[in-house]
Amino acid sequence: MPLNSTVSITRCKSYDRAEIKDALVKALEPFGGLSVYIAPKDKVLIKPNLIRGSKPEKAVVPHPELLRALIELLTELGADIYVGDSPGIETPEAALEASGYMAVMKEFGTKQADFYREMDAEVPNGGLSKKVRIVRAVHEADKIINLCKMKTHGFMMFTGAVKNMFGIVSGVSKVHTHIRFPSTDLFAQGLLDLYTTATPTLNIMDAVLAMEGDGPTNGSPREVGLILASDDGVALDVVASSVIGIDPSTIATTAVAARRGVGNTDLSKITIAGPTIDEVRVSDFELPTSWKGITSRFAKTRFMRSIGSVKPVVKHRLCRKCGKCIKGCPAHAIKMVKGKVRIEHSKCIKCYCCQEHCPYNALKLKAPIFSKLLLGFSQAREIRHRRIENDWR
Ligand code: SF4
Ligand code: SF4
Repeated sequence: MPLNSTVSITRCKSYDRAEIKDALVKALEPFGGLSVYIAPKDKVLIKPNLIRGSKPEKAVVPHPELLRALIELLTELGADIYVGDSPGIETPEAALEASGYMAVMKEFGTKQADFYREMDAEVPNGGLSKKVRIVRAVHEADKIINLCKMKTHGFMMFTGAVKNMFGIVSGVSKVHTHIRFPSTDLFAQGLLDLYTTATPTLNIMDAVLAMEGDGPTNGSPREVGLILASDDGVALDVVASSVIGIDPSTIATTAVAARRGVGNTDLSKITIAGPTIDEVRVSDFELPTSWKGITSRFAKTRFMRSIGSVKPVVKHRLCRKCGKCIKGCPAHAIKMVKGKVRIEHSKCIKCYCCQEHCPYNALKLKAPIFSKLLLGFSQAREIRHRRIENDWR
């Protein structure tokens, strides 16, 4: 674990072209600027969180104006720039196009990285797996810039820098990964395998417009007004989750990183450049339905998760029968029966990929009575604590 890591926090109120570039430059200043990391002719892979093609205002993907600002800075340095990610269901081309990335890339002559060719790469320092199957473009890049988004996540609670590296697994192999690592902890271990195999040189988080609620695709945009950056993606997640009021130790990827000594998970040993966390904290950031009321360590135990976890249910009124949930379900638990989408809950591994993939928000997460009681209890306890703190009794 590095003795000290720096995470920069930079205020940025909008995606106005000049403002976002200015904010990005400021975010990189504490590290000495981009030229500290990138040399002329370096083959640089920008790895955005392109989980699916989506309009920027939905807050599903990092805003294309941030991509533009980054490409401009890299172009000034004479880098050989590629952009690539592996979305869940659609092709990389479709996701790049729908998110407004392709237009920016065409303007600058930026190349699309080939995210179809795969290879086996060795996981360093004894991860969960000895090898991971990743896209070859990652291996061929001299430097990786992780362009992530601050969002909630139904399965993992939070997605930031570390979770974004799941996109270096190609679409088909992603499905197998969910089956191989069905629990949150196992999946987090798999993510750390990927992160340590292809550790980004730099991590930049778009938190100007974040996503709260049922992220990573069907939550609500939430103005946070920040750009965060660090060369330690684990530390970046620790700071980002703290900003939105989530205890970093309850995030599975951060907990696994702490166990393995990857990155800096100790907030007291992370230098914050810019405003303090208290100055920018968003105290009422909404968690996903699947995590409400279960952020304590006890509630996160396997037993409590198994009896309290929420189920995906189809809202037939909203369903347009596009079949994306069927295609994206790793457990083959979803079928079209007599013209209606049906979920076989006995097969469901509760990965919530279906909810991620549904473009019409027709898959909702429903909490069982037990979870609701737990939520009620934890909220009541929180209110009681606040009362005690404020001496309301
Ligand atoms: S992805 Fe959504 S809209 Fe498409 S079939 Fe499934 S539930 Fe219906
Ligand atoms: S039904 Fe949804 S939550 Fe269940 S395994 Fe399939 S994709 Fe995952």
